[in-house]
Amino acid sequence: MADDQAAAADEPEEEAALFEAAERGSADELLDAGAHSELDAMRHSAAHVMAEAVLALFPGTKLGIGPAIADGFYYDFELTRPLTPADLESIEARMDESVAADHPFVRREVSADEGRAFFAGLDQPFKVEILDDLATKAAAESAAMPPASVYEHGPFVDLCKGPHVASTGRIGPFKLLAVAGAYWRGDEKRPMLQRVYGTVWATQDDLDQYLWRRAEAKKRDHRRLGLQLDLFSFHDYSPGSAFWHPRGQRIWRTLESAMRELQERRGYQEISTPIVVSRRLWDKSGHWDLYRDNMFIIESEGETYSLKPMNCPESTVIYRSKLRSYRDLPLRYNEYGRLHRNERSGTLSGLTRVRQFIQDDAHIFVRPDQLTAEIEALLSEVREAYSWVGLEPRFAFATKPDKAIGDPALWERAEELIHAALMRSGVRFVEKPKDGTFYAPKIDIYIDDALGREWQMATIQIDLVMLPERFDLTYIDETGQQQRPIAIHRAIYGSLERFIGILVEHFAGAFPVWLAPVQAVVIPIADRHLDGAGELAAVLRGRGLRVEVDGSDNRMQNKIRLAQELKVPYMLVLGDREIEARTATVRRRGAARDAAQETLAWDEFADRLAAEDRERRVE
Ligand SMILES: [Zn+2]
Ligand SMILES: [Zn+2]
Repeated sequence: MADDQAAAADEPEEEAALFEAAERGSADELLDAGAHSELDAMRHSAAHVMAEAVLALFPGTKLGIGPAIADGFYYDFELTRPLTPADLESIEARMDESVAADHPFVRREVSADEGRAFFAGLDQPFKVEILDDLATKAAAESAAMPPASVYEHGPFVDLCKGPHVASTGRIGPFKLLAVAGAYWRGDEKRPMLQRVYGTVWATQDDLDQYLWRRAEAKKRDHRRLGLQLDLFSFHDYSPGSAFWHPRGQRIWRTLESAMRELQERRGYQEISTPIVVSRRLWDKSGHWDLYRDNMFIIESEGETYSLKPMNCPESTVIYRSKLRSYRDLPLRYNEYGRLHRNERSGTLSGLTRVRQFIQDDAHIFVRPDQLTAEIEALLSEVREAYSWVGLEPRFAFATKPDKAIGDPALWERAEELIHAALMRSGVRFVEKPKDGTFYAPKIDIYIDDALGREWQMATIQIDLVMLPERFDLTYIDETGQQQRPIAIHRAIYGSLERFIGILVEHFAGAFPVWLAPVQAVVIPIADRHLDGAGELAAVLRGRGLRVEVDGSDNRMQNKIRLAQELKVPYMLVLGDREIEARTATVRRRGAARDAAQETLAWDEFADRLAAEDRERRVE
């Protein structure tokens, strides 16, 4: 399931978004200032003040849009030359003046024609384009073009829906952070603008904390660490699809086998369905109408196919392959299907926004009377899986949206059952009214990482309609009547790519022993210790542990430094004495250079490492 993969800690990852997202880059979206709280209104106001400063310093600048975003704001500009760090300082200084002047923000409504003439007069073609789009849309709907609103402060006027703070003096401590290229309307065929990012907070203390978190996040950036730790890379042969190096693939397989072990314990059955799938399936599921733009399309022998963007509909082929009885349920199908979504290349970002990914996906078919117990069990699966990486999941219950399809009584019943399951399982949760998908209420799972960043991970969706009704799924009940099962879509890690990206940053690359691609590196002091090193490695490999020997001709201190850089949890140093006694001097990752070192017998160390591995301990 699930998907809008989100570049940073902002956008949620969920299937619903596929169907519900407003058309990207639409005029309506461009006019949304993103100001949904007092803090956001201040952030968006700072964007206006920044645009004022840029126009003052660079007359002739063409203005794109400037919404509030998580932690700050940006504004897109078309300038005659690239901005430099020194420019950002001048812009900040000019912004300080505007804040000191405490200009009030004044809203004015203008007729469409008046607005168009005004921005054409200012030579602001992007603003004119937004107004023209609104006019075209109104005409298409045979509606009158609504008046536009502009916000004015001091010398600056912008086309804007608001809201804003009362005056520029209300804008808190801010800092401009970076400049990045951004296509106008996210469209690579349109001009590349310069997007200037800034952050603004209510207090200096908040700003300082944010800047610290940001610096730390930069150090932990999974794209950087991915290369440094030799985990994965990207190549323009296949944009948005990771090339997994051996070490990264080991992390992948370790996570996958932990989940497989849990799933087997819980009675899941693994299935595998085709990647290239006829359009006929997507017509039936509704994806062809609603999601085609995000699908890779293939033609062959006169038939249209696509690479599957999700596994859901195909699981029904297996469900329907035989007659199902009430005794067969619950039926839990899990699948590690390779999914492809045709994200625009401009939006791709590391592992968090990709074109190809694999989820720990499952579709569970239950009778209505089994739903509560199944949800309870799922919540406990989620808590267990996140405990392996030392994270505490938080839950949100998203209820029926206005545009829900299906029988209202069924919705009510499903919501009652989910609520009861949440209460019984004793997990804490918040409610997100009307935030369910159009076919299902759902439980969203969030975590906060080591930097306090919130990530939405996966969801548990209780689907009454999409799979059960569109694919006419049935089972025979105790009285011989046909009944509809309920389908639960669930992924716990979500996309493995995104999950690993988040974990790399959360652990700053220092994975817990059970997940580390290399758990121990054996360091022979001299070449004459190589055979002994090989023997020790064999002992550990024989216990199923992941170990490497550093057989290079580097000096011991260099080998240790290299292992530290690769964040290997244990370094096992072997010299004459150790080999003689079949022991190793054990150095822990991150230990100070002069920290006391233990010397352990090979078997004793193997026992210790095996226990840490098995128990999935997180230090
Ligand atoms: Zn699904
Ligand atoms: Zn505004």
